[in-house]
Amino acid sequence: MTNLHSFFITTFGCQMNVYDSNLIASMLEGAGLAQAANAEEADIILINTCSVRGGAEDRAYARIAGMRQYKKKKKHLVIVVVGCMAQNHKEHIFDELEHVNYVIGPDNYNRLTDVLLGDEYSGKHSLTEQGGHNNYTGQAAKLDNTISVNIAIMRGCNKKCAYCIVPSVRGKEESRSPEDIYKEIQGAVNQGIPEVVLLGQTVNSYNYHGHRFAALLRDINNIRGLKRIRFTSPHPKHCNDELIQVMTDCSNVCNHLHLPVQSGSNAILKKMRRLYTREEYITFIQNLRASIPRLGLTTDIITGFVGESQKDFEDTLSLVQEVRFDSAFMFSYSPREGTPAYSEKETLSEIEKGARLRQLITLQNTISAEKVREMIGMQETILLEGPSRQNKEELIGKTSCFKKVVVPGSKNLNPGELIKVKLVDVKGNTLIGNSIIASDN
Ligand code: SF4
Repeated sequence: MTNLHSFFITTFGCQMNVYDSNLIASMLEGAGLAQAANAEEADIILINTCSVRGGAEDRAYARIAGMRQYKKKKKHLVIVVVGCMAQNHKEHIFDELEHVNYVIGPDNYNRLTDVLLGDEYSGKHSLTEQGGHNNYTGQAAKLDNTISVNIAIMRGCNKKCAYCIVPSVRGKEESRSPEDIYKEIQGAVNQGIPEVVLLGQTVNSYNYHGHRFAALLRDINNIRGLKRIRFTSPHPKHCNDELIQVMTDCSNVCNHLHLPVQSGSNAILKKMRRLYTREEYITFIQNLRASIPRLGLTTDIITGFVGESQKDFEDTLSLVQEVRFDSAFMFSYSPREGTPAYSEKETLSEIEKGARLRQLITLQNTISAEKVREMIGMQETILLEGPSRQNKEELIGKTSCFKKVVVPGSKNLNPGELIKVKLVDVKGNTLIGNSIIASDN
């Protein structure tokens, strides 16, 4: 198809989708296409979709429907739906969105350039075969910023959490080879990137022929020029002493853990099929904090899951009070078709679920504000990211424990540098710091 010269990608959903969009951009640029500044100028529009919540799918459908206007103006325009919703709804997407040309699931991105640029797939096609995770083509994802880049180290999920659509749309777990991962990280570092975020649906279950997550972290910690390593999201089932040891030993691995707990009730954790108890979760956090006192801890929590009693909900509140997370993503349960819990009758009304969610958010917001204030007076090292959006005279950066800090701008301070700061105040949830000395030059 010689009239296809440019592409534009719209991304919904999680960091893995952001990474995949960058991977797709890299593949298409490698095939000679240019990234357009906006959808209107592009010959190919890709919409990378999310299926985790119904609202995310509705937003994707609305965005794709809005693209009919471009197709009317540009007959040769190719519209491609990729990502989890492509896998979830497959060719049924064509029924509602007749202007869509291709539906391509996450395990088939390696065929994208053939589909778009070859003759074999003219007309409408859906490619949604699963297995093999054929995206591990050795291709590095396009860098989308100069400070922190996402790098997928594994794909898929072998868990079966009762509320989650991911295993059915992303398939079985598969870890990427360490050599491939190092190569991609080294390539980013060579271009001046100081921080990587290692991604996986259950990132700490990484296992490439016996090479496990802790060993991988140790090796990445030795990559010269890399200043910071983050990872998301680990699963509590795979949190162990080895992980504590590697986080303690490796100076470039950040003091931050985003560890989804989902509920503080053992009965609900069991119904959710989360594979750990409240006590196991709390004990792990206590052990980790004993080794890393300034740990930043964040989490995900669902309220109002099927069968959640008032006592179960109070168990979640008491866990939040006991653990004192720095922040949390909190949602009320919404059933997803295709998940194990979908067929179970809901036991709470939307009003009751909403009330519980608001109560939880109020509690967590109070704790978040207290935790950030506790840091006033401390010295921390921050990675400078660039000018603050609120005030261009100031620079914003993050601590190792994932707190935002603004400092007065100076010609001696540059994005990408690690600097030591004294934390002197807080505004909202952002700390205010004074720089002390540059610490990495
Ligand atoms: S661990 Fe559970 S919540 Fe996370 S992706 Fe797998 S099934 Fe979904």
